[in-house]
Amino acid sequence: MTALLEVEDLRVAYGKIEAVKGISFTVEAGQVVTLIGTNGAGKTTTLRTLSGLLKPIGGSIRFDGQPLGSVPAHKIVSLGLAHSPEGRHIFPRMTIEENLLLGAFLRKDQDGIQADVQRAYDLFPILGERRKQAAGTLSGGEQQMLAMGRALMSQPKLLMLDEPSMGLSPIMMQKIMATIVELRNQGTTILLVEQNAQAALSLADTGHVMEVGRIVLSGTGSDLLTDESVRKAYLGED
Ligand code: ATP
Repeated sequence: MTALLEVEDLRVAYGKIEAVKGISFTVEAGQVVTLIGTNGAGKTTTLRTLSGLLKPIGGSIRFDGQPLGSVPAHKIVSLGLAHSPEGRHIFPRMTIEENLLLGAFLRKDQDGIQADVQRAYDLFPILGERRKQAAGTLSGGEQQMLAMGRALMSQPKLLMLDEPSMGLSPIMMQKIMATIVELRNQGTTILLVEQNAQAALSLADTGHVMEVGRIVLSGTGSDLLTDESVRKAYLGED
């Protein structure tokens, strides 16, 4: 079986600085795969490249059997790859519902769109309760929910989440992580970038540890959680 996403020897640079130095990994349909690692490891750069926002200087990306090398970002969304970016990028003056509908901008099936808006409200009831309010009035965790809900509105085959736990209270973080598990159980394939290694590895099928542009260790989520070097470097143990 071929993987939904196949990344081979991917290299990405900002000018002369190579931020991603030849990484390879795959994401199988139905899996949660996580990239963990400290600040500056190249995780966000990887996701932005998969979304078509940055052009690689080497390597290849195949998504759903198709090479993505020269496909522009808006086409990549229509192929089924959605990105919930770091920092969320919601539109604060637009309502919550308008923000969700933006995620469906490529779709024409009004009935399906309404059904998916309802699905986002079922997943995150607070969004439904406040659907007519400006998105800027939401708390950080609620904005994260909105960003995830919006990314789901394109009915992605692969949902990429960049640091969904960033800046959240422990309770809110648990809620977001529980939602990722729920989405996975509903069949959504997820590529999760996280600095919170404990949370990410606890729910991931497969994890890859990135350090300065390279994948230095890969394994199942549970194997990496118990790996001594991972525990020392990323889980704050001596
Ligand atoms: P973080 O969690 O802080 O986002 P990260 O693992 O996602 O970390 P990246 O944001 O991908 O890491 O950054 C990888 C490297 O590329 C870092 O050294 C960073 O300083 C550099 N970098 C990121 N964006 C740019 C940019 N626009 N111009 C130049 N260098 C950049």
